Amino acid sequence: HDMKIAFIGLGNMGGGMAANLAKAGHDVKAFDLSAEALARAKEAGCEPFDTVSAAVADAEAVITMLPNGAIVKSVYTSDVIGKAPKGALLIDSSTIDVATLREVAALAGDAGYPMVDAPVSGGVAAAAGGNLTFMVGGSDEAFAAAQPVLEPMAKAVIHAGAIGAGQVAKMCNNMLLAIHMIGTCEALKMAERAGLEPQKFYEISSKSTGYCWSLNDYTPAPGVGAASPADNGYAGGFASALMLKDLRLAMDGAAHAGAKVPMGEHAKAIYEAFVDSGNGGLDFGAIFTTL
Ligand code: NAD
Repeated sequence: HDMKIAFIGLGNMGGGMAANLAKAGHDVKAFDLSAEALARAKEAGCEPFDTVSAAVADAEAVITMLPNGAIVKSVYTSDVIGKAPKGALLIDSSTIDVATLREVAALAGDAGYPMVDAPVSGGVAAAAGGNLTFMVGGSDEAFAAAQPVLEPMAKAVIHAGAIGAGQVAKMCNNMLLAIHMIGTCEALKMAERAGLEPQKFYEISSKSTGYCWSLNDYTPAPGVGAASPADNGYAGGFASALMLKDLRLAMDGAAHAGAKVPMGEHAKAIYEAFVDSGNGGLDFGAIFTTL
Protein backbone atom coordinates (compact mmCIF):
# COMPACT_ATOMS: atom_id res chain seq x y z
CA HIS A 1 0.00 0.00 0.00
CA ASP A 2 1.07 3.60 -0.40
CA MET A 3 2.89 4.76 2.69
CA LYS A 4 3.56 7.98 4.52
CA ILE A 5 7.34 8.29 4.31
CA ALA A 6 9.36 11.14 5.84
CA PHE A 7 12.55 11.87 3.86
CA ILE A 8 15.24 13.96 5.58
CA GLY A 9 18.24 15.18 3.52
CA LEU A 10 17.40 16.03 -0.11
CA GLY A 11 20.89 16.64 -1.51
CA ASN A 12 22.59 15.13 -4.56
CA MET A 13 21.53 11.63 -3.54
CA GLY A 14 18.44 12.19 -1.37
CA GLY A 15 16.77 14.49 -3.90
CA GLY A 16 16.57 11.79 -6.56
CA MET A 17 15.70 9.07 -4.04
CA ALA A 18 12.75 11.03 -2.58
CA ALA A 19 11.53 11.81 -6.11
CA ASN A 20 11.44 8.09 -6.96
CA LEU A 21 9.41 7.32 -3.82
CA ALA A 22 6.89 10.01 -4.79
CA LYS A 23 6.79 8.67 -8.36
CA ALA A 24 5.98 5.22 -6.95
CA GLY A 25 2.86 6.71 -5.31
CA HIS A 26 4.05 7.16 -1.72
CA ASP A 27 3.14 10.21 0.33
CA VAL A 28 6.64 11.69 0.80
CA LYS A 29 7.06 14.26 3.58
CA ALA A 30 10.30 16.07 2.85
CA PHE A 31 12.71 18.14 4.91
CA ASP A 32 16.13 19.68 4.24
CA LEU A 33 17.90 22.67 5.79
CA SER A 34 18.38 24.02 2.26
CA ALA A 35 15.31 25.88 0.93
CA GLU A 36 16.54 25.21 -2.60
CA ALA A 37 16.67 21.43 -2.06
CA LEU A 38 13.20 21.56 -0.48
CA ALA A 39 11.81 23.48 -3.46
CA ARG A 40 13.24 20.87 -5.87
CA ALA A 41 11.63 18.08 -3.84
CA LYS A 42 8.28 19.88 -3.98
CA GLU A 43 8.57 20.07 -7.78
CA ALA A 44 9.27 16.32 -7.80
CA GLY A 45 5.97 15.63 -6.01
CA CYS A 46 7.04 15.59 -2.33
CA GLU A 47 5.29 17.56 0.41
CA PRO A 48 7.72 20.09 1.98
CA PHE A 49 7.89 20.69 5.76
CA ASP A 50 9.58 23.40 7.87
CA THR A 51 11.02 21.08 10.54
CA VAL A 52 12.07 17.45 10.89
CA SER A 53 9.55 16.92 13.72
CA ALA A 54 6.66 18.10 11.52
CA ALA A 55 7.76 15.88 8.61
CA VAL A 56 7.94 12.74 10.77
CA ALA A 57 4.80 13.45 12.88
CA ASP A 58 2.58 10.81 11.24
CA ALA A 59 5.18 8.89 9.21
CA GLU A 60 5.12 5.08 8.91
CA ALA A 61 8.77 5.15 7.81
CA VAL A 62 11.58 7.73 8.10
CA ILE A 63 14.54 7.79 5.69
CA THR A 64 17.64 9.92 6.25
CA MET A 65 20.31 10.72 3.62
CA LEU A 66 22.68 13.07 5.46
CA PRO A 67 26.36 14.08 5.20
CA ASN A 68 27.88 12.48 8.33
CA GLY A 69 27.46 10.62 11.61
CA ALA A 70 27.29 13.69 13.87
CA ILE A 71 24.39 15.09 11.85
CA VAL A 72 22.63 11.71 11.69
CA LYS A 73 22.88 11.36 15.47
CA SER A 74 21.59 14.86 16.17
CA VAL A 75 18.64 14.53 13.75
CA TYR A 76 17.50 11.20 15.25
CA THR A 77 18.01 12.10 18.92
CA SER A 78 16.50 15.61 18.78
CA ASP A 79 13.84 15.32 16.10
CA VAL A 80 12.89 11.76 15.16
CA ILE A 81 12.96 9.53 18.28
CA GLY A 82 9.93 10.49 20.36
CA LYS A 83 8.51 12.65 17.54
CA ALA A 84 7.65 9.99 14.93
CA PRO A 85 4.79 7.63 15.83
CA LYS A 86 6.02 4.75 17.99
CA GLY A 87 6.85 1.74 15.84
CA ALA A 88 7.71 3.77 12.71
CA LEU A 89 10.51 2.11 10.72
CA LEU A 90 13.75 4.15 10.73
CA ILE A 91 16.11 3.81 7.74
CA ASP A 92 19.46 5.60 7.59
CA SER A 93 20.99 5.50 4.09
CA SER A 94 23.88 7.90 4.81
CA THR A 95 27.47 6.62 4.75
CA ILE A 96 28.59 6.97 8.39
CA ASP A 97 30.74 5.19 10.97
CA VAL A 98 29.45 1.90 12.36
CA ALA A 99 29.76 2.96 16.04
CA THR A 100 27.52 6.02 15.65
CA LEU A 101 24.98 4.06 13.63
CA ARG A 102 24.77 1.32 16.27
CA GLU A 103 24.47 3.90 19.06
CA VAL A 104 21.55 5.64 17.31
CA ALA A 105 19.87 2.31 16.52
CA ALA A 106 20.12 1.24 20.19
CA LEU A 107 18.50 4.51 21.33
CA ALA A 108 15.78 4.04 18.70
CA GLY A 109 15.20 0.44 19.74
CA ASP A 110 14.86 1.39 23.42
CA ALA A 111 12.21 3.95 22.41
CA GLY A 112 10.24 1.39 20.37
CA TYR A 113 11.44 2.06 16.82
CA PRO A 114 12.88 -0.69 14.58
CA MET A 115 15.90 0.63 12.65
CA VAL A 116 18.09 -0.48 9.75
CA ASP A 117 21.23 0.97 8.21
CA ALA A 118 20.88 0.97 4.42
CA PRO A 119 23.85 2.71 2.78
CA VAL A 120 23.99 2.72 -1.01
CA SER A 121 26.34 2.06 -3.87
CA GLY A 122 25.88 3.88 -7.17
CA GLY A 123 26.28 7.63 -7.58
CA VAL A 124 23.99 10.53 -8.31
CA ALA A 125 22.83 9.07 -11.64
CA ALA A 126 21.79 5.79 -9.97
CA ALA A 127 19.96 7.77 -7.26
CA ALA A 128 18.03 9.72 -9.91
CA GLY A 129 17.37 6.60 -11.98
CA GLY A 130 16.24 4.35 -9.12
CA ASN A 131 19.22 2.02 -9.69
CA LEU A 132 20.97 2.02 -6.32
CA THR A 133 22.30 -1.07 -4.54
CA PHE A 134 21.18 -1.00 -0.89
CA MET A 135 23.23 -2.96 1.69
CA VAL A 136 20.98 -3.37 4.70
CA GLY A 137 21.81 -4.14 8.34
CA GLY A 138 19.11 -5.09 10.84
CA SER A 139 16.86 -7.87 12.13
CA ASP A 140 14.99 -10.16 9.70
CA GLU A 141 11.71 -8.39 10.56
CA ALA A 142 13.16 -4.91 10.09
CA PHE A 143 14.74 -5.97 6.77
CA ALA A 144 11.43 -7.43 5.55
CA ALA A 145 9.70 -4.13 6.42
CA ALA A 146 12.42 -2.02 4.77
CA GLN A 147 12.62 -3.98 1.51
CA PRO A 148 9.38 -2.72 -0.11
CA VAL A 149 10.14 0.85 1.00
CA LEU A 150 13.58 0.75 -0.67
CA GLU A 151 12.45 -1.07 -3.83
CA PRO A 152 11.39 2.01 -5.90
CA MET A 153 14.93 3.44 -5.43
CA ALA A 154 16.82 0.20 -6.01
CA LYS A 155 18.46 -2.10 -8.50
CA ALA A 156 19.18 -4.50 -5.61
CA VAL A 157 18.30 -4.63 -1.91
CA ILE A 158 20.59 -7.01 0.00
CA HIS A 159 20.34 -8.07 3.64
CA ALA A 160 23.95 -7.79 4.84
CA GLY A 161 23.39 -8.97 8.43
CA ALA A 162 22.69 -7.43 11.84
CA ILE A 163 22.51 -3.69 12.51
CA GLY A 164 25.66 -1.94 11.22
CA ALA A 165 26.46 -4.68 8.69
CA GLY A 166 25.38 -2.42 5.82
CA GLN A 167 27.95 0.20 6.87
CA VAL A 168 30.62 -2.49 7.20
CA ALA A 169 29.84 -3.65 3.63
CA LYS A 170 29.96 -0.07 2.35
CA MET A 171 33.35 0.78 3.91
CA CYS A 172 34.93 -2.50 2.77
CA ASN A 173 33.53 -2.07 -0.75
CA ASN A 174 34.84 1.47 -1.10
CA MET A 175 38.25 0.57 0.33
CA LEU A 176 38.51 -2.17 -2.31
CA LEU A 177 37.36 0.28 -4.98
CA ALA A 178 40.05 2.82 -4.01
CA ILE A 179 42.74 0.14 -4.11
CA HIS A 180 41.82 -1.26 -7.53
CA MET A 181 41.35 2.24 -8.96
CA ILE A 182 44.90 3.24 -7.96
CA GLY A 183 46.25 -0.08 -9.28
CA THR A 184 44.41 0.41 -12.56
CA CYS A 185 45.92 3.90 -12.97
CA GLU A 186 49.43 2.55 -12.29
CA ALA A 187 49.09 -0.33 -14.76
CA LEU A 188 47.70 1.88 -17.56
CA LYS A 189 50.50 4.43 -17.10
CA MET A 190 53.22 1.80 -16.82
CA ALA A 191 52.02 0.06 -20.00
CA GLU A 192 52.28 3.35 -21.86
CA ARG A 193 55.75 4.14 -20.48
CA ALA A 194 56.98 0.67 -21.39
CA GLY A 195 55.86 1.08 -24.98
CA LEU A 196 52.43 -0.59 -25.07
CA GLU A 197 49.42 1.34 -26.37
CA PRO A 198 47.12 1.94 -23.34
CA GLN A 199 44.12 0.91 -25.48
CA LYS A 200 45.85 -2.41 -26.29
CA PHE A 201 46.57 -2.92 -22.60
CA TYR A 202 42.89 -2.27 -21.85
CA GLU A 203 41.80 -4.80 -24.50
CA ILE A 204 44.13 -7.45 -23.10
CA SER A 205 43.89 -6.93 -19.34
CA SER A 206 40.10 -6.39 -19.32
CA LYS A 207 39.90 -9.99 -20.62
CA SER A 208 42.68 -11.26 -18.36
CA THR A 209 43.11 -11.67 -14.62
CA GLY A 210 43.61 -7.92 -14.20
CA TYR A 211 39.97 -7.23 -14.96
CA CYS A 212 38.11 -5.14 -12.41
CA TRP A 213 35.41 -2.47 -12.38
CA SER A 214 37.91 0.43 -12.48
CA LEU A 215 39.61 -0.95 -15.60
CA ASN A 216 36.65 -2.51 -17.40
CA ASP A 217 33.81 -0.10 -16.65
CA TYR A 218 35.36 3.20 -15.55
CA THR A 219 38.74 3.32 -17.36
CA PRO A 220 40.61 6.25 -15.74
CA ALA A 221 42.84 7.12 -18.76
CA PRO A 222 41.38 9.73 -21.16
CA GLY A 223 40.16 8.26 -24.43
CA VAL A 224 40.95 4.68 -23.41
CA GLY A 225 38.52 1.82 -22.79
CA ALA A 226 35.12 2.44 -21.21
CA ALA A 227 33.62 5.92 -21.07
CA SER A 228 34.31 7.64 -17.74
CA PRO A 229 34.87 11.11 -16.23
CA ALA A 230 38.48 10.80 -17.54
CA ASP A 231 37.04 11.60 -20.97
CA ASN A 232 35.60 14.81 -19.53
CA GLY A 233 38.56 16.29 -17.63
CA TYR A 234 37.63 14.21 -14.55
CA ALA A 235 34.54 16.40 -13.96
CA GLY A 236 31.43 14.85 -12.41
CA GLY A 237 31.57 11.26 -11.20
CA PHE A 238 32.67 10.39 -7.66
CA ALA A 239 34.69 13.21 -6.07
CA SER A 240 38.11 12.37 -4.63
CA ALA A 241 37.10 14.20 -1.42
CA LEU A 242 34.18 11.78 -0.96
CA MET A 243 36.46 8.80 -1.56
CA LEU A 244 38.82 10.20 1.10
CA LYS A 245 35.87 10.50 3.53
CA ASP A 246 35.00 6.86 2.91
CA LEU A 247 38.64 5.75 3.32
CA ARG A 248 38.83 7.56 6.65
CA LEU A 249 35.70 5.70 7.79
CA ALA A 250 37.27 2.45 6.58
CA MET A 251 40.57 3.08 8.42
CA ASP A 252 38.69 3.94 11.65
CA GLY A 253 36.60 0.81 11.16
CA ALA A 254 39.70 -1.31 10.57
CA ALA A 255 41.37 0.06 13.72
CA HIS A 256 38.22 -0.69 15.74
CA ALA A 257 38.05 -4.22 14.36
CA GLY A 258 41.80 -4.86 14.71
CA ALA A 259 42.02 -5.62 10.96
CA LYS A 260 45.30 -5.13 9.07
CA VAL A 261 44.77 -3.02 5.95
CA PRO A 262 48.18 -1.94 4.60
CA MET A 263 46.87 -1.31 1.06
CA GLY A 264 43.86 0.55 2.44
CA GLU A 265 46.17 2.78 4.49
CA HIS A 266 48.32 3.47 1.46
CA ALA A 267 45.25 4.29 -0.64
CA LYS A 268 44.09 6.70 2.06
CA ALA A 269 47.49 8.46 2.08
CA ILE A 270 47.40 8.79 -1.73
CA TYR A 271 43.89 10.31 -1.74
CA GLU A 272 44.78 12.55 1.22
CA ALA A 273 47.76 14.03 -0.64
CA PHE A 274 45.65 14.44 -3.80
CA VAL A 275 42.80 16.19 -1.97
CA ASP A 276 45.19 18.36 0.12
CA SER A 277 46.73 19.72 -3.08
CA GLY A 278 43.36 21.09 -4.13
CA ASN A 279 41.97 18.24 -6.22
CA GLY A 280 39.10 17.15 -3.96
CA GLY A 281 36.51 18.06 -6.58
CA LEU A 282 38.01 15.87 -9.32
CA ASP A 283 36.71 12.36 -9.96
CA PHE A 284 38.65 9.72 -8.02
CA GLY A 285 40.10 8.30 -11.28
CA ALA A 286 42.18 11.48 -11.59
CA ILE A 287 44.94 9.76 -9.59
CA PHE A 288 46.01 8.76 -13.14
CA THR A 289 47.21 12.36 -13.71
CA THR A 290 49.63 12.17 -10.76
CA LEU A 291 51.67 9.25 -12.11
P1 NAD B 1 24.76 16.34 -0.18
O1 NAD B 1 25.66 17.23 0.59
O2 NAD B 1 24.44 16.65 -1.60
O3 NAD B 1 23.32 16.23 0.59
C1 NAD B 1 23.18 16.26 1.98
C2 NAD B 1 21.92 17.08 2.29
O4 NAD B 1 21.67 17.05 3.70
C3 NAD B 1 22.06 18.56 1.91
O5 NAD B 1 20.97 18.94 1.05
C4 NAD B 1 21.99 19.28 3.26
O6 NAD B 1 21.34 20.56 3.18
C5 NAD B 1 21.18 18.31 4.08
N1 NAD B 1 21.37 18.49 5.53
C6 NAD B 1 22.51 18.69 6.22
N2 NAD B 1 22.24 18.76 7.54
C7 NAD B 1 20.90 18.60 7.68
C8 NAD B 1 20.02 18.57 8.79
N3 NAD B 1 20.47 18.71 10.04
N4 NAD B 1 18.70 18.38 8.55
C9 NAD B 1 18.24 18.23 7.30
N5 NAD B 1 19.02 18.24 6.20
C10 NAD B 1 20.34 18.44 6.39
O7 NAD B 1 25.36 14.87 -0.05
P2 NAD B 1 25.01 13.57 -0.94
O8 NAD B 1 25.99 13.45 -2.03
O9 NAD B 1 23.55 13.54 -1.22
O10 NAD B 1 25.39 12.42 0.12
C11 NAD B 1 24.53 12.05 1.19
C12 NAD B 1 25.08 10.79 1.84
O11 NAD B 1 25.15 9.74 0.87
C13 NAD B 1 26.50 10.94 2.39
O12 NAD B 1 26.58 10.23 3.61
C14 NAD B 1 27.37 10.32 1.31
O13 NAD B 1 28.59 9.81 1.81
C15 NAD B 1 26.47 9.20 0.80
N6 NAD B 1 26.73 8.74 -0.58
C16 NAD B 1 26.97 9.64 -1.59
C17 NAD B 1 27.21 9.18 -2.89
C18 NAD B 1 27.49 10.16 -4.03
O14 NAD B 1 27.93 9.71 -5.10
N7 NAD B 1 27.24 11.46 -3.86
C19 NAD B 1 27.18 7.82 -3.17
C20 NAD B 1 26.90 6.91 -2.15
C21 NAD B 1 26.68 7.39 -0.86
